[in-house]
Amino acid sequence: MKPGVEMTEAAEKQNKNRGKMSTEVSPHRKQMGEKMIHEQKLEAIGRMAVGTARSLIKPVLKPALINTLNLISRLLPVRSPVPIFAYHSLDESGSFLSFSPEIFRRQMEFLHSRGYRVYTVSEYTKLLYEGGEMAIPAVVLTFDDGFANFLTEAAPVLRKYGYRATVYIPTDFIGRQSDFTSLVDLPILSGNEIRKLAEEGFEIGSHSRSHPNLTRLTPDQARNEIVRSKVVLEDLTGKEVRTFCYPRGDYNREIIELVKEAGYQAAVSLRPGNRNSIADTHILHRIVIGPRDSIEYFRLALGPLFNLYYRLFKI
Ligand SMILES: [Zn+2]
Repeated sequence: MKPGVEMTEAAEKQNKNRGKMSTEVSPHRKQMGEKMIHEQKLEAIGRMAVGTARSLIKPVLKPALINTLNLISRLLPVRSPVPIFAYHSLDESGSFLSFSPEIFRRQMEFLHSRGYRVYTVSEYTKLLYEGGEMAIPAVVLTFDDGFANFLTEAAPVLRKYGYRATVYIPTDFIGRQSDFTSLVDLPILSGNEIRKLAEEGFEIGSHSRSHPNLTRLTPDQARNEIVRSKVVLEDLTGKEVRTFCYPRGDYNREIIELVKEAGYQAAVSLRPGNRNSIADTHILHRIVIGPRDSIEYFRLALGPLFNLYYRLFKI
């Protein structure tokens, strides 16, 4: 027998033995297996019970908890945060990307009545870099995806109060439909509209070219998305594009480096939270207010207890 054949046979034998070992189950092992199945069943029942309890108490507990925290917030001698809010489309469809224009109007009215100042992302990050004094109270408003309803639903309200926002555009979709998402089918701002908004003082930021998950692209493809979109918007507006918004909030260390290399001074993420420091400039926390969130939740998001609430309850 050749040595090669011998080795193959030996390996086969070993495999056969291994097979035997795995099919022959000792009584002790069998008992252990049954115990594990029993524990898994118990765990599943427990999870179901917690889920049911949560869904039952949520409608009652959530507003009560938010109201209580808002009350405590007013008494706390803590410096207020400067939250960055993330909106997408202002429409009444109730989709995951949609927010009610009416509630948006109420939110802006609330901010104005309380003397809030609104910063663009660039203005805000400049203050972070320079250690400048933030106006208190203040917020930052961002709109992802460049939906054309920004012009009809958001801009008039913002102008009324002298507010400006930062609008993030996926440049391949300028003047087209929002084909990058299946959640809504809406027109995206045209080149002319974007130029006019920039002239008016709205900040235009990049949201990549084609709105991909950047972490799944090759470094060259990701660089192209990050760099080319900046060039397109700068050519269009004649202004420097200083900030970036990660499509779908997806990023990793390599993507952050590419964004920095491309010359963006800041980038917004979807990490929830209402405080940012100099360490966060390229992964800025933002708060997404959902279509069903109350004005009290918005008020909580403006206050010092939001991060605690989110970490502990997340409801
Ligand atoms: Zn987006």
